[in-house]
Amino acid sequence: MKNLLVMKFGGTSMGSAERIKVASRLARAALEMRPVAVVVSAMAKVTDLLLDTLRRAEAGDMDSVEKNCTALAERHLAACGELLSGPALDEAVKEVEELVAEFSRIAQGIRMLGERPPRSMDEAVAIGERLSALMMAAHLNKKGVRSKAVNAREVIVTDSVFGNATPLMEQTRERANRVLRPLIEENVLPVVTGFNGATQDGRPTTLGRGGSDFSASILAAALDASELWIWTDVDGIMTADPRLVPDPAVLAEVTYREAAELAYNGAKVLHPRTLAPLVERQIPVWSKNSFAPEKPGTKIVPEVMAPPGPRAVTSMAGVALVSVEPASAEISGTRIMGRALDALGATSAEVLAMTSSSYRQSFCFLVRRDELPRAIEALEAALSLEIAHGYLKPIEVNDQVGLLAVVGEGMRGTPGLAGRIFTAISREKVNVIAIAQGSSELTIAIVVSREGLDKAVRAVHAECKMGELARRG
Ligand code: ASP
Ligand code: MG
Repeated sequence: MKNLLVMKFGGTSMGSAERIKVASRLARAALEMRPVAVVVSAMAKVTDLLLDTLRRAEAGDMDSVEKNCTALAERHLAACGELLSGPALDEAVKEVEELVAEFSRIAQGIRMLGERPPRSMDEAVAIGERLSALMMAAHLNKKGVRSKAVNAREVIVTDSVFGNATPLMEQTRERANRVLRPLIEENVLPVVTGFNGATQDGRPTTLGRGGSDFSASILAAALDASELWIWTDVDGIMTADPRLVPDPAVLAEVTYREAAELAYNGAKVLHPRTLAPLVERQIPVWSKNSFAPEKPGTKIVPEVMAPPGPRAVTSMAGVALVSVEPASAEISGTRIMGRALDALGATSAEVLAMTSSSYRQSFCFLVRRDELPRAIEALEAALSLEIAHGYLKPIEVNDQVGLLAVVGEGMRGTPGLAGRIFTAISREKVNVIAIAQGSSELTIAIVVSREGLDKAVRAVHAECKMGELARRG
């Protein structure tokens, strides 16, 4: 199968009947040129609603559960009413009602248990994508395009880390070729649910919040697609968040590595794990705006022609800096660091940046604020003896910080760059608290005071002329 295009529509691109019509039109236009497979998110905010409902079920608040289920059904039935008519509408209404009933049964089960088993959670939250996939496929059929909704549970095989699973690519490739390829070859457009998968023995999993991008790249790699287009509600990958800087620009092209660093450091356009499956086969990705499909968007490719240097800046406010400091030089800082990292590794808290210094080998690292309690608990348990005996100072937390990341291929080879960046930040009287360049030559991560974060982003964006350079192309 030559020239296969995988298209992924995000939550806002699927957010209403109107948006689903646009998405269908974009898929149809592409289908006139080449074979296509579609991956969809749940309608905007539906996953949040499902998660909220399950939390309330656990707490025994069944009035809210019922209200939420009604809202869920109404939103999808209203969209079906606008997208479909006749027997196709009747069929879709029945399927929506069945899926909502399935969700409600899981919520009842959670209430009875008084807890939320991760596996039931994954089965339940994937219903958002099953609802949107069925509507889009039905609408395409109505428009004369043969189409079929496919539950990714039949295709994407994962490990059993519920809530944040990782695909097993060999098995997934085999399933994709067995389940999806024949459909595409018979001119049936598959509309696959994003976000979910299943273990080898069929237990439902999900790929983490925002994981539909990842689903699409997994399927693009598994099917040897020639391109992946990710449809969102912004014009592409920008030099900075337009809410923070006055003159950001869309980057015409970025490398896989730049896009991954930007996503990892807080840019919201892509799920951070999206690019990994594509690198080996060098499948290019386009990030495009379904609200302005005529705009070119950003192309993500293995290499770019642009001159080396900083190209974009991202920031994250919801982070905290944790410091561990030996109280005396008698204790091996390296060994403490090793144990601390081990303890963190056993939690799912991610270390976003880390630095160490001084003869006492104190070190500090950055975690997401919502992962902080877990991280601290693990650290204090692992180092309790040293802390109790006074070899280590009490662990210190500073949650009044923010992370800023400057990203660009070949940055390390640009003399004087770090100096310019720090001068620009200090000119704004923003305090730099920690710096991590690590071994990645394309990112400088800088921890600053939270109140100075936005100012620092503006200063770096202006100093490096990111907007201007991107506009010049
Ligand atoms: N619907 C899921 C979420 O909101 C996955 C996605 O949209 O990418 O996290
Ligand atoms: Mg998304």
